[in-house]
Amino acid sequence: MRVTRALPSAAVVASRLAGAGCIAPAEEAAELLAAATDGAHLEELVARREQGEPLAWVTGYTRFLGRKVRVQRGVYVPRPQTEILALRAIASLPAHGIAADLCTGSGAVAAALLAEIPGARVVATDIDPAACRSATENGVEVYLGHLGDPLPSDLRGLLDVVVAVPPYVPTDALRFLPTDARDYEPIRALDGGHDGTDVLVRVVRAASRLLRPGGTLLLELGGDQDALLAGILTRAGFQQPTRLEDAEGDLRGIQTVLLDR
Ligand code: GLN
Repeated sequence: MRVTRALPSAAVVASRLAGAGCIAPAEEAAELLAAATDGAHLEELVARREQGEPLAWVTGYTRFLGRKVRVQRGVYVPRPQTEILALRAIASLPAHGIAADLCTGSGAVAAALLAEIPGARVVATDIDPAACRSATENGVEVYLGHLGDPLPSDLRGLLDVVVAVPPYVPTDALRFLPTDARDYEPIRALDGGHDGTDVLVRVVRAASRLLRPGGTLLLELGGDQDALLAGILTRAGFQQPTRLEDAEGDLRGIQTVLLDR
């Protein structure tokens, strides 16, 4: 005889999550209950979340701009703070334009672009095979490799938009990240080197080769990294960037345009 365990109530799950230090236990309990196939599976999912594993890995997905994005275990979890960058990318991409999402991770930004601008071509890259698998699951045309390197060479100089959420946390600040990011997410997706700009600088250089004159570059960054990048942006042929700030006035990204040379 098969014994099935009854599902515990949402309140019971929520109180376990609250006990483990979750900030939004009721919402997370609802997600875990929806993801679980039976009582034993739910127990496994709750235990993983109690240990601190990112919710998106436990349920297998997160939401980005209201859409479900699959996130395999081991892949950087798309953040709500990145939605502002994705919205700018959507607004900058012509109906039949071409965009590249570098450091795409799960492909959340690329998938949002595809959904909103269905006539456009959107390509993406990531150095992590697990990220590329997630991006593929999310319907993204993704290439494994560094920044612009693996992209088809015939796209060079033709792109309308380059968008990137590279690792940009200064190495010394990694310890201040929330524990699910710090203890679980791949360090390669977070560690931006001494002042956090190591990969940002390389993205700027790659973007100046990929974009057409007048094309838009959108970068996620934080702190005072816009000032740190000002010189390299100018030397790479970009206009003075616009700061993208969140509701609290914190810097979340920059937007700039490649000038005619
Ligand atoms: N502050 C960001 C976060 O953890 C950093 C993300 C990144 O480096 N891509 O949410």
